[in-house]
Amino acid sequence: MTNRSISQDKNDYRIVVLGSAAVGKSSLLTRFIHGTFKDSYSPTVEDTYRRVVTLDSSVCTLHITDTGGSHHFPAMKNLAIKRGHAFLVVYSLANRRSFLSLETFHAEIVSVRNTLSMVPFMVVGNKCDIKEREVSESEGLALAKKWGCSYIETSAKHDFQVRKLFEELLYLEKRHSMTLEVGQGKGKKSQVTRPQKPVQQSEPQLHKQPESQLHKCMLM
Ligand code: GDP
Repeated sequence: MTNRSISQDKNDYRIVVLGSAAVGKSSLLTRFIHGTFKDSYSPTVEDTYRRVVTLDSSVCTLHITDTGGSHHFPAMKNLAIKRGHAFLVVYSLANRRSFLSLETFHAEIVSVRNTLSMVPFMVVGNKCDIKEREVSESEGLALAKKWGCSYIETSAKHDFQVRKLFEELLYLEKRHSMTLEVGQGKGKKSQVTRPQKPVQQSEPQLHKQPESQLHKCMLM
């Protein structure tokens, strides 16, 4: 089953966000959807946020599910993983334990989906505004390299690279769709193109992506 074939509606695109409690999953989504940030913490069980975007000139609704850090509702989490088109695994750069827990979340996704080879997937190091880091950038990059996915550091608090995170995720989907179309059209085996280099931290590096592709995915 491809990630596209499980879609109920071709205009829906489901992003699933996983990570330990208090790493800033809800804050990233609230920042992205509403442009706001709260210093207070209230645990999430599961929340879905929606945002309309255009992909290749057609309107598409992003459904972004924050799975919470909760281990009490595995069925809900597994259903979200099963139906997801793209995944973000989030940790706090100021909390090593949350970084180590990413292996578990990655394994959970792989156990439900068997493979992530066709699925847009990113490792997100949040809270990069905090000076006392417990996880270095090179460790985050190394993990992303191991999994063959992209890496980005964000701050929901300072609104740093939050929008870029979603632009990159949609960009990865675009690459997969294009590659699949080419493969199927010519009767060749589909080929996955993974980013050669994970996304890095500073804003100007966004512009290393081909402009033509970035423009096709528009966040409104
Ligand atoms: P979740 O359980 O993963 O959804 O975490 P929350 O989004 O509820 O955030 C947990 C706590 O971390 C809250 O007190 C937030 O204010 C704080 N927080 C979230 N993102 C950031 C960030 O980028 N920087 C800092 N300094 N704090 C953050």
